[in-house]
Amino acid sequence: MPQPRKQFGQHWLRSEKALDKIVAAAELQPGNSAMGHPGDRVLEIGPGMGVLTRRLMTAAESVVAVEIDRDLCALLTKKLGNQENFLLLQGDFLSLDLAAILAPSPAFNQPNKVVANIPYNITGPILEKLLGTIANPVLPPFDVIVLLVQKEVALRLCARAGSTHFGALSVRVQYLATCEFICDVPAKAFQPPPKVDSAVVRIRPRSLPNPAQDPLQLEKLVKLGFSSKRKMLRNNLKSLIEIEQLNHWLAELQINPQVRAEDLSVEQWIALSDRVSVSNHAIPKISELVEKSEI
Ligand code: SAH
Repeated sequence: MPQPRKQFGQHWLRSEKALDKIVAAAELQPGNSAMGHPGDRVLEIGPGMGVLTRRLMTAAESVVAVEIDRDLCALLTKKLGNQENFLLLQGDFLSLDLAAILAPSPAFNQPNKVVANIPYNITGPILEKLLGTIANPVLPPFDVIVLLVQKEVALRLCARAGSTHFGALSVRVQYLATCEFICDVPAKAFQPPPKVDSAVVRIRPRSLPNPAQDPLQLEKLVKLGFSSKRKMLRNNLKSLIEIEQLNHWLAELQINPQVRAEDLSVEQWIALSDRVSVSNHAIPKISELVEKSEI
């Protein structure tokens, strides 16, 4: 067994129970080509020694796995390389152009589900690559994404407004998807055990019935709104919205003027963002007027 490499966030999952729960959460279909039923095409990030990979290959139609560590790739090729429903790509998941690489392989092209025990040090960038951003969602979206992540991240992804875990990440991800906390996975389920506890989350991308009129505006608002956790929302947004104006909008939306960013639900963030964008259209900025040389 190769020595785990710290720089690649390598912690081998050893708990059968946790592995079973991850696979069950993805609700995989093997498909039946004779009957014309297509199955699930899974993308796995960081297969490591292949414990999860093996299970995915039995439960789904095909698995494409991206692993950065060359030595592990050699090992995985020996173990699983002769299976026809498995494709291993060596490289950094964050920089690979998967769509281009997979386009010529009909069996693996456009995976519809993601199931992975990911390296925790790149959780944020992985989520962004899988989901996109408020202004630029990944299209077409995955049907479902099941990830083993740091417990703290799982709590933030699944938090409701008003809870201490509700933050900018919660708003950004919940704008794009629904998130469910599946189960805890203790540190001792891994070899070597990480310093933190873990949890399995299920993320289902979907579009909202009433999306923000100006998603870039919403992104900006959320970033600024959460910039200082201890401050009230109106103080964090001071540079963007005058306090009187904000108080007026908060009153219209029946929100307490003393709220903090974590108290606003995703719908309330959208409602506030829509007011800002409408008012931006109504009152041209002085800079815009100068450009149009109206003053
Ligand atoms: N899925 C395995 C291993 C999890 S550890 C298990 O459950 O046991 C995380 C894995 O991600 C390691 O195999 C590591 O080498 C791999 N990895 C780390 N950074 C990566 C990256 N940027 N792209 C692809 N794989 C990466």
